[in-house]
Amino acid sequence: MNSRRDFLQKIAASAIALPLLPLAGWANSSNYEGPVLRVAIMGLGGYGTRVAEAMQACKKAKLVGVISGTPAKITDWQGRFSIPEKNCYNYENFDRIKDNKDIDVVYITTPNGLHHDQVIRVAAAGKHVICEKPMALNAKEGQEMIDACKKANVTLLVGYRMHFEPKTLEIIRMRKNDDFGKILFFQGLCGFKIGDPTQWRLNKQLAGGGSLMDIGIYAINGARYMVGEEPTWVTAQETKTDPVKFKDGVDETIQFQFGFPSGAVASCLSTYSMNNLDRFFLNGEKGFAELQPSTGYGPIKGRTSKGELTQPHVTHQTVQMEEMAGIILEGKQPIVPVNGEEALKDLKIIDAIYLAAKTGQKVDLKLT
Ligand code: NAD
Repeated sequence: MNSRRDFLQKIAASAIALPLLPLAGWANSSNYEGPVLRVAIMGLGGYGTRVAEAMQACKKAKLVGVISGTPAKITDWQGRFSIPEKNCYNYENFDRIKDNKDIDVVYITTPNGLHHDQVIRVAAAGKHVICEKPMALNAKEGQEMIDACKKANVTLLVGYRMHFEPKTLEIIRMRKNDDFGKILFFQGLCGFKIGDPTQWRLNKQLAGGGSLMDIGIYAINGARYMVGEEPTWVTAQETKTDPVKFKDGVDETIQFQFGFPSGAVASCLSTYSMNNLDRFFLNGEKGFAELQPSTGYGPIKGRTSKGELTQPHVTHQTVQMEEMAGIILEGKQPIVPVNGEEALKDLKIIDAIYLAAKTGQKVDLKLT
C-alpha cells in the first residue's frame, strides 16, 4: 500500500497543481501514514471527474488508474492526475487489470445500463468494485452482481454519498435517539428539468428507465434511512406530458407511496420536468426534520423541531471515498450500509414501483 508521504512526494514531483477544492481540515491532515486505497475510475464523464477531483483531498484514497474508451481523455487525465501509462485501460482490455498489483478497486461511473457487465468483469479480475447508483437496471441484475462479487471474494460498494453527509447523519442520530418520537410520515421530492433529448439518461437501454432510476432513487433510499424501516408495500402513478422526449419505458414523472411495518407512510415525487425539487421531510409524534436541499452536492440545509442543523458542509465525494477506504481496507462499518445488498433493496423497490405504476395495483414487498 502507498503511504500518504509517498502520495505527497509523487504529487510534489509531478509539479501538477491541485485543483481548488474546499479543503476540509480532517481530510487533509498531512501526517497520515496508514494504508491508502488505490482507485481506478471507469467512465471519465461528468461524475467520474467530480469523484477524481474530490479524491485529491483524500488521505486514505488515491486515484491511480483510468478505464476509458476515449484515448484523448486518458491522456488528459494522465496529465491532470499523474496517472502512469501502465494503469490506463480501455473497455476491451480492462480484464487485464487482474495482473496490476497497484490498483485495489475500480470505481464505475458509466451509464446505468453498463454497470452489470462491468461490475462482473471487474470482480472476475479480482478487484474490489465501487459502482454508481443505480447499481443496476433491476433486482435480477443486482443479485447477479452481488453473487459475482461474493464468488470472487471482492467487496461491492455503491456510491450512496448521502450516507456520509453530516446533516443527514444527524437526523438519523436524532431519530434513533427518539427526538422525533414515533415516525409517522416521510416526504421525498426529487427532480430537475432535463435538457438534451439525445443524452443516455433518456435512452431506455442505457438508463434503464427515466427520472426514477436517476433521481427518484434518492427519495427511495432516503425514505428508508430517514424512516429507519423497510417498506412493505408500494403504490405508484406515472404521468407524462412529453411522450416524444420521454419514450416508452422512460418515465418523466412518477409519484409513489410506501407503507412501513410501524404504520408510517411515505409520499414521494420523482421527475425530469420540474426544477427546485430537492426536499426531504420527516414527521414524528414529537417533532420533525427537514432537508432542503436534501441530496444535491450541497451545501445541504436543514432544520428540525429542535432548531437549525449546523453541521459543516463537506465535499460529499471526498468524505465518501475516505469512508469507503475505511470500509474496504479496515472493515469499518458505515452508519447506513453502502454495500450491494443495500442497493439491491432499492432495485427491488424500483421494480415494484414500475410494476405498481403499470398495473395500478398495490405491490407488496419483502425486503428483510
Ligand atoms: P456522463 O454522461 O457525464 O458520463 C458517462 C461516461 O461514461 C462518459 O465518459 C462516457 O464516455 C462513458 N461511456 C462509456 N460507455 C458509454 C456508452 N456506451 N454510452 C454512453 N457513455 C459511455 O454521465 P454521469 O453523469 O457521469 O453519470 C455516470 C453514472 O454516475 C450514472 O450511473 C449516474 O447515475 C451516476 N451519477 C451519480 C451521481 C451521484 O451523485 N452519486 C451523480 C451523477 C451521476
